[in-house]
Amino acid sequence: MSAILVIGELNEGVVASHTFELLAAARSLSDAGGGDVHALVPGDSSVGQSLFGGGADAVHVATNQLLQTELTVDAFLPPVLNVIENTGADIVLIAQTAFGRDFGPALAFNLKAAVAMECTGLTLDGGRLQATRACYGGSARAEVKWGSSVQIVTIKPKTLDALATDDSRSGEVTEVSEVGEARVKILGTEKAEATGIRLEDAEVVVSGGRGLGEPEAFGILEELGNLLNGATGASRAACDLGWYPPSQQVGLTGKTVTPNLYIAVAISGASQHMAGMSGSKNIVAINRDEDSNMVQSSRFAVIEDYKKVIPALIEEIKNLG
Ligand SMILES: Cc1cc2nc3c(=O)[nH]c(=O)nc-3n(C[C@H](O)[C@H](O)[C@H](O)COP(=O)(O)OP(=O)(O)OC[C@H]3O[C@@H](n4cnc5c(N)ncnc54)[C@H](O)[C@@H]3O)c2cc1C
Repeated sequence: MSAILVIGELNEGVVASHTFELLAAARSLSDAGGGDVHALVPGDSSVGQSLFGGGADAVHVATNQLLQTELTVDAFLPPVLNVIENTGADIVLIAQTAFGRDFGPALAFNLKAAVAMECTGLTLDGGRLQATRACYGGSARAEVKWGSSVQIVTIKPKTLDALATDDSRSGEVTEVSEVGEARVKILGTEKAEATGIRLEDAEVVVSGGRGLGEPEAFGILEELGNLLNGATGASRAACDLGWYPPSQQVGLTGKTVTPNLYIAVAISGASQHMAGMSGSKNIVAINRDEDSNMVQSSRFAVIEDYKKVIPALIEEIKNLG
């Protein structure tokens, strides 16, 4: 019998939001005939309960304290292998996080299976997983299938939407006590410097590109972002020039954002940038070039020098009160 296993992670003691995105993907595969949705997360049974509401049919918690404070590949492999063996899971979903990037290939190596990294879409075809992922530096998309019986996939956070929590769902949480010997010791973690709303969580994102012409221009983008209660992002070209921190880069090799409103200022709309923001509900382009891909892909566009548009926009918003 086939089953789907979601590998969950914690963020400051609670289940990380991307775990719920994986659960939503697992739920739709399950509804298409992929088998029951199992979820495994480090923690205790109270942590595990929340996963039912997100779409899990069965929840397993890896209870060893070490896994809750220092999640390393070697330590987490034995409980994961245990759950795969006991559930017969043939699809394993992992988030493309700092941990998932290491864990996916390590798990695949252990199971003599294949892993497809950084996928953006999943479907079932004849009962087998088919995944979509970017290739040729984001210029094209590839559909991949697995030759191995276990199909392992990593998915970038924010690529998929989580389901609305269903509080009527509950169940038994199974405890898994195994833990592997950690060969890596985490000496410390450092939070990326960010003030205000996190880029990934913002409902409004104002991003700037190389067309701004100077790093100081990010000042007025931040002012606009603050007025709209949003966050400021940047294209890779702007980050590579040292105009804005790489932690705020949007795109294929940066963050994925899905805000209600994405204002792209002086960004041409290269496929690699679009890969990180095309899921935005409303895209507004401010660009001098009406033929640019960003203008063509936007819902609204202002074809003008941003130096005229942004101060006028800020003024108008301030007048609104
Ligand atoms: C493997 C790979 C991964 C990549 N990953 C990413 C990624 O994650 N994110 C990303 O962004 N890019 C990524 N890139 C780079 C990407 O291909 C583009 O080079 C980059 O997105 C271009 O940035 P830009 O739009 O800011 O600059 P440009 O392409 O130079 O565009 C500048 C825009 O500004 C407009 N403009 C100029 N002056 C003004 C003005 N005064 N007022 C209004 N508009 C003006 C121009 O009309 C133009 O459209 C990647 C590339 C590769 C090969």
